Order: sequence, then C-alpha cells, then structure tokens
Amino acid sequence: MTIKLIGLPTDINSSFERGPAAAPAAIRNELFSDRGNLAAESGLEIGGEIEIIDGGDLPLAEDEGDAALIRSAVAQALGEGHHPLLLGGDHAVTFPIIQGVHDVRGPVEILHFDAHPDLYDDFEGNPRSHASPFARIMEAGLAKRLVQVGIRTMNRHCREQAERFGVEVIEMRDFAPDKVPVLQGPLYISFDLDALDPSQVPGVSHPEPGGLWLRDVLNILDRQTARIVAADIVELNPRRDVGSLAAITAAKLVRELSALIVRNNA
Ligand code: MN
Ligand code: MN
Repeated sequence: MTIKLIGLPTDINSSFERGPAAAPAAIRNELFSDRGNLAAESGLEIGGEIEIIDGGDLPLAEDEGDAALIRSAVAQALGEGHHPLLLGGDHAVTFPIIQGVHDVRGPVEILHFDAHPDLYDDFEGNPRSHASPFARIMEAGLAKRLVQVGIRTMNRHCREQAERFGVEVIEMRDFAPDKVPVLQGPLYISFDLDALDPSQVPGVSHPEPGGLWLRDVLNILDRQTARIVAADIVELNPRRDVGSLAAITAAKLVRELSALIVRNNA
C-alpha cells in the first residue's frame, strides 16, 4: 500500500485573497525538512512502514480544464492502487477530487474539518467557489454521509443547505471530541487548515478565532477505524503564515493522516 502525494497549486476559486497555490511547495518543504522527523505519533514512519510516493504537482492552468485534470489524476492514482493525499490549493479542489474518488470507488463517507461549512449554493456568482464544494458534492450524490467538525460560521443560507443535504454539523459552540461519530467508511477526510484555531495556524486566508486544537483533531482521527480511500489538506496560505507554523502543522497532518491510512487499511 502506498500513499501518493499530489500537489494542487491553485487558488483561482478563492473568494477573498490568493495564496494557497503556493501551499504544496511549502508543505513539502516542511515535511522533508531536517527541522522535524518523518515519524507519526504512533511510531509509524515515512520511509519505513509508511510508503509515500510524490506525484509532484499537477500542471494546473487555473482555467476550466483544471477540474477534469484533478478528477482524472485522482481516479488514476486510485486505479493504480494508491491512496491519494492531495495537497491544496484552495478548498474548491475537493469537488473534482471527490468526483474522481466516486468514479473508482462510488459514494464515500466524508469527515470534513473546517471553520466554514462550504455549502453555499454559489458564492458571489461562482458555483465553483471554495465556499461551495460540499454543496456540489451533496447535490451530485457523491457522498453517503457528510460530517463537518470545527464549524463556527453558520449563517441562515448554509444552515438551510445543511438541512437540505442532511449534513451532520458538529459546531464549535457545543464541540466535544466524542460528539464526532466513528464512521463506517469507505472514508474520505478533507482537512481545511482554518478548522484549527488561528493562534496555532495563522497561515490561512480566512482565520476564524475559537477553533479546534490539533490535539483534539488527533484524538478524533485516532478513533476512526474505517478504511480510508483518500484525503486532502487545503487552504494553507503561506503569504499569511508566521514562522511557517501553518506549513509545519500541515506537514504534521501529512504524517498523521498517512499513518492512519496505513493503520486502517492494513
Ligand atoms: Mn473550506
Ligand atoms: Mn475554511
């Protein structure tokens, strides 16, 4: 079993400021830096029990064709027996990623970490906005179940959308780690770094105070036992980062998600 890293250097569907296109390089830089090591907290190590191949970045042109390129790259990696770990990019990439997952594996359960529900029917006229991927995924019937964790920006429209699509939203205002269900799988994990508190992860385009602690996230992940098809880490904005904290956190999530994929698919 191998994890295949695929970089998605795009931020064309960001609604406020650009920057996440530079994220894949920043994450790789920290992942393979001598500042840290390559072990997950469980002791599984990249280069040891965790076999990672780096597929590089997709040659995205930041136009209409990018979605098809992302979708086919994900489907191809799955077809080759890999577990794709996608490095965004803004969160708009998750719709074509899930299309590619669905092409090969059918509907999945999605565990989505985010400050925002990303359920807008469209955002400022853009149905492909990074504020809308989970509306596209749910209306296309690509997910059996969507569980959102870390949410703290619910407005009336997104609440109606969540109700319409049957989304299970665990809001920060009444968050506890054990409120997150253990999913049956096959599981897809989508990790928007702004789910975490901005004091830990300043390098995101839409910092929202009152967020998750990484320790709670690791506990939630550790409790998941389902087979994991693929995962993404999105919305790192290196232009806003402080001391590379967000990039270092994203690199740690690469290690921890990879270790979880290895453990749960053994
Ligand atoms: Mn998001
Ligand atoms: Mn977000």
